[in-house]
Amino acid sequence: MENITLNNGTKIPPIGFGVFRILDGEEVENCVLNALKAGYRLIDAALIYKNEKGVGDAIKNSGIPREEIFVTTKLWNTDQGYESTLKAIDVSLENLGLSYVDLYLVHWPTASEDLNESMDKREETWKAMEEIYGLGKAKAIGVSNFTITHLEEMKKYAKILPMVNQVEFHPFLYQEELMNYCKENHIIMEAHSPLAPIADIKSLEYRNENIGIMANKYGKTEAQLLIRWSIQHGFIPLPKSTHEERIKENINVFDFQISDEDMESLNTMNVNLHVRRDPTNLK
Ligand code: NAP
Repeated sequence: MENITLNNGTKIPPIGFGVFRILDGEEVENCVLNALKAGYRLIDAALIYKNEKGVGDAIKNSGIPREEIFVTTKLWNTDQGYESTLKAIDVSLENLGLSYVDLYLVHWPTASEDLNESMDKREETWKAMEEIYGLGKAKAIGVSNFTITHLEEMKKYAKILPMVNQVEFHPFLYQEELMNYCKENHIIMEAHSPLAPIADIKSLEYRNENIGIMANKYGKTEAQLLIRWSIQHGFIPLPKSTHEERIKENINVFDFQISDEDMESLNTMNVNLHVRRDPTNLK
């Protein structure tokens, strides 16, 4: 499991454990402890998941040195704006019981609670993100759910370009243009909802039996095939599970290689399906 290097030299693990929809307290603490035990060294949290405290407790109680764990958290939309962003990072650090995070992300390109409503505070928010980075409260900064338009716009106001863009990515939403743009601009992509083709109700009508057939061929599960597809594309998948066996299964993806032909066949399953909100129209 080889680390990836971000454009500021920071090393980031090639797979992470996502904690969306895991309850704070014992549940998230156990899941994160299981994930660390299974070998994950990247934990993907967010203020809005309301479980930063449990994540922090797991890190503290894991016995693993802090510097060996890559902790991400995210700025929630309603905290966007210069002053409020500077305050929000302190709240997250306090919740996590940490003095810094490894990566701080702007969660969505809107400052509205309503993910369909455009509210542009991106420039002033990013100014605060750069300050947070300068203060060492985040070792890297980035964005999430940003389209090429949002990223191009950043070139007009950013002194520091984002190191990461975390977006929905799976074979039913193969965002090739965005992927190529990020590569050209040295932005590492993280894949949220990587298991959507097999685990999300919205993908039911697109279910594709070839995923199972192909997984069998490699002696792997569908989840492992989907996670491996992300990794071979060079982005960092962030699978979530509350089950210890699945947590282990999802990181057991470094002993096989999907052939070029099968990668292409997974790519062509694209149906532009967003199981989370589509940020395309956010102005
Ligand atoms: P996901 O990881 O793609 O899928 C999670 C679902 O898959 C859960 O229902 C889980 O069930 C199931 N699952 C996990 N492992 C499985 C396996 N081996 N076999 C079959 N089913 C399995 O979805 P997600 O949680 O939406 O996304 C992952 C992470 O990405 C989040 O936790 C979060 O950190 C991040 N995320 C970010 C954003 C953003 O806006 N930036 C949006 C969404 C997600 P069980 O838990 O019951 O096992």
